[in-house]
Amino acid sequence: MEISEPIIFKYILDGKDWEVTVVLKNKLGYTFKLDKNGKFVLYISKLWFNRILKNPNERNKLDKNIIKWLPRMIVHKDILEFNFEERYFYLWGVKTEFHILKSFVYFKEGDKLHYVKINRQNKEYIIKAINNKLEEIIYDVAKEYTDYYFKLLFNTTLADVKYKISSKEVTTYWGKHFYRKKEIIYNLSLVHYDKKYLRATALHEVNHFKFPKHGQKFWNNMAKFDYEYYKIDRDKKMS
Ligand SMILES: [Zn+2]
Repeated sequence: MEISEPIIFKYILDGKDWEVTVVLKNKLGYTFKLDKNGKFVLYISKLWFNRILKNPNERNKLDKNIIKWLPRMIVHKDILEFNFEERYFYLWGVKTEFHILKSFVYFKEGDKLHYVKINRQNKEYIIKAINNKLEEIIYDVAKEYTDYYFKLLFNTTLADVKYKISSKEVTTYWGKHFYRKKEIIYNLSLVHYDKKYLRATALHEVNHFKFPKHGQKFWNNMAKFDYEYYKIDRDKKMS
């Protein structure tokens, strides 16, 4: 049977309409994600999808799961979404207003005032300019935390191990380390959440230098060095 794409499932929650875009995959099973454009996407195997089309009970079960997921994802969407029209975004878990003043955008991070120079006035350009600033902001904090955990776990510093850290817009992980390349990548989205999540991610990634895989030893070591942030890391979820 031929299915025409895009396939959209619609749900009503708190009197609001929510759309879920269905993407067919060859991989078995299904996963549900919020993509970086703030769209809800259901990745589902073709096999499973065909089953759902034929069997209303299967469709019902899937709908129930989606309705369970959606409220949690809507919270993420609120935090991740750049609300240009109302002039705010989230910075370290705090709703942060920004103002456009001729060729500058400014916003506050605690007591600190950030200025971003803008050469154009269109929405896409301004969001991009603010995002570049957010990359600088997350870099400094990520560096501080990564350094802290290198000292705590290895009694060395980031500079000594010549480690490169960076942040990128990704959807599938909070942090990632590349042993050979000597690099840690943090998800740029972390800048929108409370700082404790970035710190927990730093602990996690630095701990990978002792234990590349997620075994019992990996978790034990994290818990031993910083139980509070070990707990935050274990509880945090992107979806
Ligand atoms: Zn890991």
